[in-house]
Amino acid sequence: MADSSVSYKCPNCGAPLSFQPGKKTVTCEYCDTEFEVSAIEELFRDKQETAARAAEAQEAKWATDDAGSEWSIDEAKTLHAFTCSSCGAELVCDENTMATECVYCGNPTMIPKRFDGMLKPDYVIPFKKTKADAVAALKEFYKGHLLLPSNFTANNRVEAIQPMYVPFWLFDSKISAEAAFRAAKIRTYTSGNDVVTETRIYNCRRAAKMSFERIPVDGSKKMEDAYMESIEPFNYGELVPFSAAYLTGYLADKYDVTAETCATRADKRVENSAVDVLRSSVEGFDECELEDAAVVKDVGKVSYAMVPVWILTTRYNDKPYTFMMNGQTGKVVGSLPYDSTKALLYPALCSLVLIPVLYFVLSMMME
Ligand SMILES: [Zn+2]
Ligand SMILES: [Zn+2]
Repeated sequence: MADSSVSYKCPNCGAPLSFQPGKKTVTCEYCDTEFEVSAIEELFRDKQETAARAAEAQEAKWATDDAGSEWSIDEAKTLHAFTCSSCGAELVCDENTMATECVYCGNPTMIPKRFDGMLKPDYVIPFKKTKADAVAALKEFYKGHLLLPSNFTANNRVEAIQPMYVPFWLFDSKISAEAAFRAAKIRTYTSGNDVVTETRIYNCRRAAKMSFERIPVDGSKKMEDAYMESIEPFNYGELVPFSAAYLTGYLADKYDVTAETCATRADKRVENSAVDVLRSSVEGFDECELEDAAVVKDVGKVSYAMVPVWILTTRYNDKPYTFMMNGQTGKVVGSLPYDSTKALLYPALCSLVLIPVLYFVLSMMME
């Protein structure tokens, strides 16, 4: 053990510990704390095991190949694809539906193309909100925005809102998690003329098995995460097995981020949530700091789902402004420009009205 002393650190202050051969205890030269050698060795062994498991966790893969399935030949025949000549978005719909304009950039020329390269989803959350709901929500959203350019509020513009399914990868996992925390209890008291601060350090190790269901990661690069997050959550309890019938009359955004690419984000979310759960069980301390953690997937299942949104993008001064509504819950998000000519006009109008009023008030006071 003697020459490996550098690897052993004081659990209290982190300084390197120097072991004296044959001694059962070791004293930290920096903070003067005395430890049992066997306790230090055990702690070190635990750390090594956690590190080994963390490395193993990096290797455990999600079963991304199982997500989605192939369309039957008949189903594929009824599907059409359109691509936006301006931003490259690719939308899929059934043979009786048209992508009239690009939902992402507002470009009105969508070019038909052969349908291919999209898997059949496993699940779908069906639309609950109708077009009338979406139009009403949009009008409500515009209400009170007097400076909004009039091409936004025109009736035919409002009616152009389209229903679209957004692709999501859902990650289910069963994991074994373990983490080490360095916790402290701090007590201050007076002894004679001295104020004494006593800090007790505890090494807390926690381990648990957990399961996570349907951690969503969106599979569309075109869809802005900030927008999507604003209209979340979706109630995944209402997921139903997908059938092509759900596409009738609706658009579907073709995913452009694969399940494998999304897996890193899913792993990060699982790991953070697992560590939070473990941390919440370290109770009754004044401080608690994570030292190391290992999360190992025992099962990692991935499915491909579609969630419903109503979406409309209107361009103004060459910039796209998007309005979106959660097609299940009705939650909305949007951005609005303002019309600078109207902005100049309004104060002018106001002063035209105000000047005679002021004049009248002043003249009353003068009398
Ligand atoms: Zn020390
Ligand atoms: Zn576009």
